[in-house]
Amino acid sequence: MSKTIFNLRIWFVAIILLIASSAKVNADNSSENTKTPKYIFFFIGDGMGLSQANTAEAYLGALNKSNGIKRLNFTTLPNQGFYTTYASDRFITGSAAAGTALSSGEKTSISTIGMDAKRQKPLKSVAEVAKEKGYKVGIVTSVSIDHATPASFYAHQPTRNMYYDISLDLSKSGFNYFAGGGFKHPEGDGKIDENNTMANFGMGADQKLAKKKPNSLEVAKARGYTIINTLDDFKALQKGDDKIISIAPRLAGGKSLPYSIDQDEKTDISLEDFTRKGIELLDNKKGFFMMIEAGKIDWACHANDAATVIKEVLQLDKAVSAALEFYKKHPKETLILIGGDHETGGMALGFSGSHYQSAFSLLQNQNLSYEKFAQLVKEYRESTKQPDVNYGLELVKKHFGLGNEEKNLKLNEFELQQLKDAFEKSMIYEYKMSKDDQFYLLYGSYDPFTVTACHILSQKAGIGWTSFSHTASPIPIRSIGVGAEQFTGFFDNTDVSKRLKKLLE
Ligand SMILES: [Zn+2]
Repeated sequence: MSKTIFNLRIWFVAIILLIASSAKVNADNSSENTKTPKYIFFFIGDGMGLSQANTAEAYLGALNKSNGIKRLNFTTLPNQGFYTTYASDRFITGSAAAGTALSSGEKTSISTIGMDAKRQKPLKSVAEVAKEKGYKVGIVTSVSIDHATPASFYAHQPTRNMYYDISLDLSKSGFNYFAGGGFKHPEGDGKIDENNTMANFGMGADQKLAKKKPNSLEVAKARGYTIINTLDDFKALQKGDDKIISIAPRLAGGKSLPYSIDQDEKTDISLEDFTRKGIELLDNKKGFFMMIEAGKIDWACHANDAATVIKEVLQLDKAVSAALEFYKKHPKETLILIGGDHETGGMALGFSGSHYQSAFSLLQNQNLSYEKFAQLVKEYRESTKQPDVNYGLELVKKHFGLGNEEKNLKLNEFELQQLKDAFEKSMIYEYKMSKDDQFYLLYGSYDPFTVTACHILSQKAGIGWTSFSHTASPIPIRSIGVGAEQFTGFFDNTDVSKRLKKLLE
């Protein structure tokens, strides 16, 4: 009798163990299954370090009459990390080397796109890996679609200035959706638009580039792409449309989207719009990978234009919110990452002249970007033989609020003198970039009057700038979803793609 009971007990324990172990196998399997995200969003804020996002939050806080911050969607995500950004041959990186590190998981040299440091061997990007695995792929940017960051995900060229060759690589990729700005050199004439040096930051043209044919847009069409550039065609895009190149209807300098601060909601297509359309077109049973770059945070930081930076960051946050809406519908299959390639401008939430004071709400008085303001200055210079400084002062009052006492933007003697000096220089000639120039420290490569207005408004708000170039500050990365815990801690920019590729395995 007792022997029977003993046997029964043994059987009972064995069965329990069997059930438990099979349950464990199931649990492992399911966690195994959820380890590979089916939908991946990789947002890159070009030039976005901690300060750029936090300044936008402080600005929103100040508009709410708070001394603190109002959080953005993407800064509240549960997983946070930091990474170093140095290139293989320079401590302070550039968008090509940083973009390649983020796309391929390998360090490379300055200006190199998707190739090793010696510019010999192509490096496979995570977007290309995703495509091999059957994912649909989308590349979205607010700058030209052949610019360094987006190019790092589909092109392999020894230098970022080879726009023509990069644009041929674009259609060779076979990716499903390209959207944002236009093409810089579809004709392959090798010339850099002189008016758009801000889009190249003194990299200059690759003079060896001869005029090449055929037009890379025609090549893209022959490879099955549909190219659209009107708002109506954009709106008409729908699920099932594939191999699309969607270019903004109105382009600003460097074939980019107009700055968010300069956009017209009714006629322009925003980064958020392009992201939402990407979700609609790419969503399919096998999943998708979409890289979305907010490319003009960097450009506005180069110009030390704080108000424009904030609007670009807020636009990025809206694009992220589109991804978060998608995530809520597919929480067990989606991964969202928001990183940056490097910090630009050495932006600080503090300035020596404003001591411990901050007044971020003053930035709301700026109603256009430095780019548009510089255009107004240029038009005035070209239309008058005897420039009047009072005209210039009225212009900064109208567009930056500077000198408007009711808006708490009274100018002191020193600021007034800075503006007058800069205006005088702006009226003499069109300022060209020269790093040897004694004026470089004051004005960088920008129109003197414009950059001085940006500086004074920044300083009154309590924001400091230390550079017209990039800095080497580590970059924050925020994430949510499947595998997001892989992107916490302190690591290197190459680890981002290494870990992404591992998740795709
Ligand atoms: Zn830059």
